[in-house]
Amino acid sequence: MQKIISLFIIIFCSKLVFAKTDSIPAIHIIEKPISYFEERKKLSVEYLQNRHGLNITKPIITPKIIVLHFTDGGTIKSVFNYFNNTTIEAGRSYNKKQSNLNVSSHYLIDRDGTIYHLLSDTLFARHTIGLNYCAIGVENIGSVSNPLTEKQVTANIALIKHLSQQYPIEYVIGHSEYGKFRKTPLWKETDASYFTGKTDPGDSFLKQVREGIKNLKVKSSY
Ligand SMILES: [Zn+2]
Repeated sequence: MQKIISLFIIIFCSKLVFAKTDSIPAIHIIEKPISYFEERKKLSVEYLQNRHGLNITKPIITPKIIVLHFTDGGTIKSVFNYFNNTTIEAGRSYNKKQSNLNVSSHYLIDRDGTIYHLLSDTLFARHTIGLNYCAIGVENIGSVSNPLTEKQVTANIALIKHLSQQYPIEYVIGHSEYGKFRKTPLWKETDASYFTGKTDPGDSFLKQVREGIKNLKVKSSY
């Protein structure tokens, strides 16, 4: 009798575990790390200190905001190669004046919805002025003339849900909306005039993503 009861408990508990696992949306993420060695670490720490005004000695962030972007063209290969450079290109003189650190993002999503993970979620990346110190960047291959796809909408929703289970994410915004944080305590940029107007990732895309994450307790502005 004892054995039958034990067996019953084991079957019952394993069903509970499976039920719990089933409720977590399946997500497939491909690890594709960009170079993040000594010089990138040093430039990232300098960015945190000089631009964000934070007295931090390691390029580590506590993610609080997810910023969605589009790449304004390119392919996974070309964007990966671009982000893989440690220092920013000479042509971007306005940004280069503020820091020699290259731009990058934590995730890069292809037009078919494939998600690539380029650097650890808690490592610093330069993608959104004023907010990098607490923001995970998600880039999507696309542009105004090549709007983001349904599969990218689905992938972004799944990724946001996945990240929200791991970090205390309070805001999900489009890069085009980051200016709304300029006059808030979350904005950390030592040069008040350092700002660039952005239109990515597009209003229609943002609307669709927000519909998919409406059950999450995240805000779209401060
Ligand atoms: Zn952007």
